[in-house]
Amino acid sequence: MKITIRDVRVILTAPAGINLVVVKVETSEPGLYGLGCATFTQRWTAVAAAVTEHLRPLLVGREIDRVEELWQLMYQHSYWRNGPVLNNAIAGVDIALWDLKGKRAGMPLYDLLGGKVREGAAVYRHADATEIKAVEERIHGFLAEGVRHVRVQIGGYGGKSYENAPPPEGALAGSYFHPRQYLRATVAALEKVRGTFGPGLELIHDVHERLTPALAVELAKEVEPLHLYFLEDLLPPEHLAWFANVRQVCTTPLGMGELFSSPQEWVPLVSGRLIDFMRMHITAMGGLTPARKAAILGEWHGVRTAWHGPGDVSPVGHAVNVHLDVASANFGVQEWSGFNEALENVFPGCPQLRQGYAYVSERPGHGVDVDEALAGKFPCQAVTETWTQSRLPDGSLGRP
Ligand code: MG
Repeated sequence: MKITIRDVRVILTAPAGINLVVVKVETSEPGLYGLGCATFTQRWTAVAAAVTEHLRPLLVGREIDRVEELWQLMYQHSYWRNGPVLNNAIAGVDIALWDLKGKRAGMPLYDLLGGKVREGAAVYRHADATEIKAVEERIHGFLAEGVRHVRVQIGGYGGKSYENAPPPEGALAGSYFHPRQYLRATVAALEKVRGTFGPGLELIHDVHERLTPALAVELAKEVEPLHLYFLEDLLPPEHLAWFANVRQVCTTPLGMGELFSSPQEWVPLVSGRLIDFMRMHITAMGGLTPARKAAILGEWHGVRTAWHGPGDVSPVGHAVNVHLDVASANFGVQEWSGFNEALENVFPGCPQLRQGYAYVSERPGHGVDVDEALAGKFPCQAVTETWTQSRLPDGSLGRP
């Protein structure tokens, strides 16, 4: 008998103070359901409405086994496509359908993807502080935990402090940064860390699109002698053509893509071999269905994966990242933000970190469940983000 979709529901919860969106696909088979991540934390209610108002009526009654067909249907049905709100909504359903397929097959997701090529996924952790001494203390802490890849930041993304650059009278409030001063402080911090920890530590730095294209090329060239594992999100999606300039002047490895939502963004960079690591937020690109295709595209072009893994990915999304990691020949490293106790309780089956490697649950599907009653005790809050209101020294908005 064919199993069909009986209902599509949204679960909103914030166990770590970050609004998360999870989709539950219930089926005609009693007790059989799948869970997907649809978290776009800055626009969470828009995603929830896209799922319940638009995808649910489209999907109820359809067969759960036809994952590819349903992905294509959700993608083209809105006519306009490739935006992060709709893609996250699609991802919530898509991942839930893959979860269901794994549960029906009695296999963990990594087995559906071809099986493991490694036992665990190496992670990188985030070492950020306003003073270099505190950054190095954090790195010592990570090394003691077995982590071998560390992202080094000084004073937050773009650096929070700047000197001798007062804004004009009446400048608006915001998160101010100074591109040139940030560049100088970053090079100095990376040099110091490399000197302290030697060549064995894998170093990453996230530019978070804070530089003009010309300064971005300059930074990539300046850090070349420090042999980074990769330089993250060096340019904003609006200036991808500048990656060709970076390639011409240095060998610094480049990781790019957490803001991507369209294949028109990642396909040319991968096929043109203009980056070394793709690191999309897999729900913003539309879920596991497009992510596994992108991973395979990368394998053919010598581009590795380093999927986006911040706190605004639900444990379901993190689990999918790690399933892909252990099943992809061209996996590089996994960004890891970790789970607090509340997240572990709301989402039983969270992937686990041990000695620098992330491991998934061996249960069928992605292995993560949700305690809905407990999730309800951590309601999402309406917030107006301030960190994305970043500003340049003259008070004008700069990319966050
Ligand atoms: Mg980043």
